[in-house]
Amino acid sequence: MYDVIIIGAGIVGCSTAYWLSQYEMSIAVLETHNDVANGTTKANTGCMHAGYDPQPGSLMAKYNVEGSAMGKQLCEKLAVPYENCGSLVVAHTKEDMKTIEELYQRGKQNGVKELYLLDEKQTRELQPRLSGNVKGSLYAKTGAIVDPWQFAIALAEVAVENGVALKLNNEVKAITKKEGIFTITTNKDKYQCRYIINAAGVYSDVVHEMIGEKEFTIIPVRGQYFLLDKNEGEKVQLMLFQSPSQKGKGVAVCPTVHGNMIVGPDAETVESEDLATTAEALKYIKEQSKLTMDCINYRDNIRNFAGIRARSDRGDFIIEESKSVKNFYNLAGIASPGLTAGCAIGYHVIDWLNTKENFVKKQNYQETRRKIRFKELSFAEKNELIAKNPAYGRIVCRCEHVTEGEILDCFSSPIPPQSIDAVKRRTNAGMGRCQSGFCGERVAMILKEKLNIEFNEILLDKEGSKILMNKAKEGDY
Ligand SMILES: Cc1cc2nc3c(=O)[nH]c(=O)nc-3n(C[C@H](O)[C@H](O)[C@H](O)COP(=O)(O)OP(=O)(O)OC[C@H]3O[C@@H](n4cnc5c(N)ncnc54)[C@H](O)[C@@H]3O)c2cc1C
Repeated sequence: MYDVIIIGAGIVGCSTAYWLSQYEMSIAVLETHNDVANGTTKANTGCMHAGYDPQPGSLMAKYNVEGSAMGKQLCEKLAVPYENCGSLVVAHTKEDMKTIEELYQRGKQNGVKELYLLDEKQTRELQPRLSGNVKGSLYAKTGAIVDPWQFAIALAEVAVENGVALKLNNEVKAITKKEGIFTITTNKDKYQCRYIINAAGVYSDVVHEMIGEKEFTIIPVRGQYFLLDKNEGEKVQLMLFQSPSQKGKGVAVCPTVHGNMIVGPDAETVESEDLATTAEALKYIKEQSKLTMDCINYRDNIRNFAGIRARSDRGDFIIEESKSVKNFYNLAGIASPGLTAGCAIGYHVIDWLNTKENFVKKQNYQETRRKIRFKELSFAEKNELIAKNPAYGRIVCRCEHVTEGEILDCFSSPIPPQSIDAVKRRTNAGMGRCQSGFCGERVAMILKEKLNIEFNEILLDKEGSKILMNKAKEGDY
């Protein structure tokens, strides 16, 4: 029996586990997939928004601004790639200028620091390669970019080090409650606890209604992307947003922490968790992006993907105890800016639990994580590392310069990878221009060896995503 069970291991569930793991309580996290950060948290723009966008007084505004302020220090502690590049909302018309003035005032009301209204010259000084017809911009100096899946993985790894039980491949199917104790039935097992934190993303309404009344509905809204090669990444210095209008929020052109350019997303309501990309939406994104930058070379596109926003019918985050089930907390409807807000949302869960009882801080707990990134080391450090372990001298991913040593390291981490993409999310192997064309096979064979599985059990990503069926010829693998 656990004190607290968290359902869902996206940024919200992982941050909740991280902060709660500093307290004397027993905690489990139940997650459908074979890895953390495998829902919306792995498919977004990777922006740590400054906080001028949400309506003043909303939960979105509160947690966005707090999350943005926490992000830098937290990412430093957890060795998560983070870059404080700033953001611009670029105005092209008189109406856009009015809109960015409103966003400026909204930002001030929300408590965003270092917000500035710039004229065309100042805008172009910060971001030279912009399409013509720029009138001005709203500059948010605190805007940043982050590696979204690394953020969640790091939070979860430290939580596990602090004693949290992470139960992957456990999809919650039913919840009952008797004499104050919840029983949660998954596809694998039964678990009991006294408090439930529902962080199930797109499925948070479904999970709540396993035991509670209907209190909210989640509307899945898909967004699609182009991810461009690092050649294109050089063209963009800050996160570039278009001025929101009645037509929508426009598409963003942003750098990624790995040096690529990301363009998107659009917004399309979908029936279910449909992650397909469509020619229509991608064409729209390409056209829209020209308003911001007309020099993007889409021949350098290396990947398209889609993510699903969990938009609530209340138009705001839902962060509250269920009205129909005592000790059941919903962290639901966490659409954008949920990546930014996630760390702050998890931080406050203890405040609610401690209105019920007195959980005290542990004497000793871990807050930080170390991670070796070979390509970021000096020559001397590289040589020292190779002398200790020659596996760091063998490059597996040539595009991203990832060594065998780094790949082997992640198998001895608190949450070892179960798939090729899980290795990618931990090391960047396969994230470069060739998209694992060269290193994929080597990673697959390391995975086979470390997990002690047959070649036809190797997964690309989620459960069932087998990539090798039969041997084409005999020989060593
Ligand atoms: C296109 C797009 C762009 C975005 N861009 C940004 C951005 O730039 N900046 C920003 O701040 N935010 C952005 N967001 C929002 C951000 O990505 C999300 O708010 C955030 O990732 C939500 O995290 P989560 O933990 O709530 O959900 P998720 O990451 O989806 O995690 C929920 C987890 O719950 C699990 N789960 C569901 N049902 C069950 C069950 N029955 N049993 C067990 N586990 C279950 C799922 O498998 C999943 O792993 C964007 C979102 C999208 C879609």
